[in-house]
Amino acid sequence: MQNLESLAINQDKSTAALSNFDAKHPPDPKIIDTCVHCGFCLSTCPSYRVIGKEMDSPRGRIYLMDAINKGEAALNSATVQHFDSCLGCLACVSTCPSGVQYDKLISATRPQIERNYKRSIGERMLRFMIFNLFPYPNRLRILLPFLYLYQKLNIQKTVRATGLLQKLFPRLAAMESILPQVNLNCLWDNMPEVIPAQGEKRYRVGVILGCVQRLFFSPVNEATVRVLTANGCEVVIPKSQGCCAALPAHQGQEKQAQAIARQMIDSFEGTNVDAIIINAAGCGHTLKEYSHILQDDSNYREKAKKFASLVKDAQEFLAQIGLTAKLYPLTDRELTIVYQDACHLLHGQKISLQPRQLLRQIPGVKLREPIDAALCCGSAGVYNMLQPEVADELGKQKVENLLNTGAELIASPNPGCSLQIKKHLQMKGKILPIMHPMELLDFSIRGVKLQK
Ligand code: SF4
Ligand code: SF4
Repeated sequence: MQNLESLAINQDKSTAALSNFDAKHPPDPKIIDTCVHCGFCLSTCPSYRVIGKEMDSPRGRIYLMDAINKGEAALNSATVQHFDSCLGCLACVSTCPSGVQYDKLISATRPQIERNYKRSIGERMLRFMIFNLFPYPNRLRILLPFLYLYQKLNIQKTVRATGLLQKLFPRLAAMESILPQVNLNCLWDNMPEVIPAQGEKRYRVGVILGCVQRLFFSPVNEATVRVLTANGCEVVIPKSQGCCAALPAHQGQEKQAQAIARQMIDSFEGTNVDAIIINAAGCGHTLKEYSHILQDDSNYREKAKKFASLVKDAQEFLAQIGLTAKLYPLTDRELTIVYQDACHLLHGQKISLQPRQLLRQIPGVKLREPIDAALCCGSAGVYNMLQPEVADELGKQKVENLLNTGAELIASPNPGCSLQIKKHLQMKGKILPIMHPMELLDFSIRGVKLQK
């Protein structure tokens, strides 16, 4: 006679046999079953707020995962579009009263899609370009002089004015619309491998430069290093480090994410640092997930756990160790700043107080809070390139809410959010400076005044 346990195993096997996901880590039915379908998450889900359909909400997607797991729905264009419309912002994880781990469900679903669903040729070409370019700083670097000339010779202005790119290749136009100002100083990594602490050494920390961050936002990296050293940290920047793997990991490119994660772990091997610091929200969240990304790799599983345990967001770390450097006012009068929560800090890493605490320590700074602070701005990694319509609506709403605070400056801890906000400010014809909190702290420590 079969006992209960073997019956359960047989049931599991028969469910697995029916499933339209493959056997490699499908979304866990045990997690799916924790959803009680209450719908509390719906109003905080950005894709649901813009698209307005149940299947583009967390609850709808969980239903779909369940149906695919049970073989009641297929993995096809009709279902995949609803997973693709998810920004991965994790607002639903913060909201859910039942503690449903939607983050685990969606990160199990995305690689299943990439393995088992054939996208259209146009979609595959776009993704091929994104995944073979953005995570590799040396490949991106080759493009820099061309992008520089594109902006310098006003070709960009002409392309935008004609609207042709938008008509012919809307997704390429979406990518072009967030191109930051190109600076040829970023052609070389100009920071030494070890930078001594100022004054008494309190910690030895590693710094991750990022891929897009190091090329288009190198002043933020330089500011981060100066703030850390001014606060008693010796900084180590291994030359061999590459991308953090956030981009391929968020889009289900499992093998690529694993290879990049291994390279990052190897580059910090033997550095004996107390913490590994990252100043970009999306990257920080992925770096803290390395043990999950490398869960099936027996050679790296333990190394990944150790690495992830050392990763700290720059603001999280500084708030924890306390600032010792003296801070000076950024203007001769009060300065109103609105801090823009990045989803992968707020929802992904539960970091919201620390950046505000640090900014409030700058003399003369007054913080304002926007409506819907916890709602995604639509950037979400490469979401604004892959799903430009939804991203544009969210960007518009975010900028409206930031402007309504009346603040004179936006503090944004993630490069993707900064580009998305800048684009929508420009579309509204508004000029408002956007700075990373590390840049503001750096200016304050060095006594540099902000230009009016
Ligand atoms: S995910 Fe959570 S909040 Fe959303 S429907 Fe399920 S139980 Fe409710
Ligand atoms: S991750 Fe964001 S977009 Fe995706 S279901 Fe959750 S709240 Fe909605």
